[in-house]
Amino acid sequence: MAAEFGARIGIAEEKNLGGTCVNVGCVPKKLLVYGSHFAEEFADAVAYGWSVEETSFDWKLLRDNKNKEIFRLNGVYESLLQNSNVEIFSSHAEFHNHNTLTINGTCVSAEKILIATGSAPFVPPFAGSEYAVTSNDMFHLDQLPKRMTVVGGGYIAVEFAGIMNGLGVDTTLVYRGSKFLRGFDQDIRRIVVRELEEKGIRLQFNSTISKIEKRRNRLELSSDKGSTLSTDLVLYATGRKPHVQSLGLDNTQIRTGATGAIEVNDVYQTTVPNVFALGDVIDRAQLTPVAIAEGMAFAQRQFNHKPGVVDYSAIPTCVFCQPNIGTVGPTEEEARHLYSQIEVFESSFKPMKHTMTGRNETTYMKLIVDFSTDKLISAHMVGPEAGEIIQGFAVAITAGATKADIDRTIAIHPTTAEEFVTMRDPKSY
Ligand code: NDP
Repeated sequence: MAAEFGARIGIAEEKNLGGTCVNVGCVPKKLLVYGSHFAEEFADAVAYGWSVEETSFDWKLLRDNKNKEIFRLNGVYESLLQNSNVEIFSSHAEFHNHNTLTINGTCVSAEKILIATGSAPFVPPFAGSEYAVTSNDMFHLDQLPKRMTVVGGGYIAVEFAGIMNGLGVDTTLVYRGSKFLRGFDQDIRRIVVRELEEKGIRLQFNSTISKIEKRRNRLELSSDKGSTLSTDLVLYATGRKPHVQSLGLDNTQIRTGATGAIEVNDVYQTTVPNVFALGDVIDRAQLTPVAIAEGMAFAQRQFNHKPGVVDYSAIPTCVFCQPNIGTVGPTEEEARHLYSQIEVFESSFKPMKHTMTGRNETTYMKLIVDFSTDKLISAHMVGPEAGEIIQGFAVAITAGATKADIDRTIAIHPTTAEEFVTMRDPKSY
């Protein structure tokens, strides 16, 4: 985008173009989610008259097909950059001073430098932590384990627990708190706990792994409570830290904060005026679309004389656990603090598809409205394609829609989404 505005741009990337999202994040993860969901589809098809012969699953085939798609996307990114006349340095870059980077032994100088190096998985240090794998490794496993333990309770933990369970791996999720997905609406968390258990994932709450020991062909996990767990693979999904190592920041006055994130002001300027930073490497939301919005704002401001501004107030997000979580706006608990009076509308039901399959899966939806202005402030959902549905509600919230607007919207029948426009009575307490 900056190049399109006329700037002369170079980009240094030591790995594959596209960053975490394209290579070891959102995109391959979504492909694995699709892959893992077929087991349920085969089972459900029977109630719809299909006879499904014995099925089998080939991990290497899924992994390699996924790799081909990622390779294709790397090429798409390369063409986009080349078509915009961006010079690509396929190598590591390190600050030599404020204006100069050392890239592959050569000095490259620029008027402005943008750090968009993202984040990397964080594994806490403890005895045997070297036996844990991270999400980066999950995309390239040689073979699927028979049993797996996922440690953590955020996006990556619940998403991978669902993927592995769907692919037939005996999956246990261990979380240190009493309920995972901290920061999400309480009802959403409660329902996802039930749904994951219903699908056969073993959940161990209030548990911290203190030691991993390698036995001949298995791993032995010890918890702080003295219990042990035998498993074949341990995934640590315990957060991601800003990727600032070996950037040569010591050769500059660029400041980082307590979490290691690069400090920036409102226009993504670091403590060195000609150096900017955005995305996971700064301390805002670790989400691809947020990084893209920040990048666009940066390019507009620096190279197109427009006040590029990112609105962080209503960031929609989807957790691709199974079923999905889609959410935009504050949780009910947060909304009660932020607004003097709110109205909460909710609906919980069995999706139509499962009236025939008998599958015990709940779809849950919640709308929160500011009582004094009638404005819609949040939409939360657990259910199939929740992300697809909530994206539209994010537009409505951004545009300032009121509950009256939602009420006069005609439903699309029969859909799951129509429930959102037919919620008439607020929840009473
Ligand atoms: P999160 O920050 O979402 O969750 C980290 C989890 O690990 C929390 O449950 C946390 O517990 C737990 N944890 C942290 N430290 C420890 C520790 N020392 N021991 C045990 N547990 C610990 O991180 P993720 O790794 O899941 O994901 C990183 C980020 O990537 C997310 O925040 C999200 O922004 C982004 N992402 C987005 C996706 C999407 O949009 N669908 C998909 C995947 C990632 P506690 O809650 O108690 O602090």
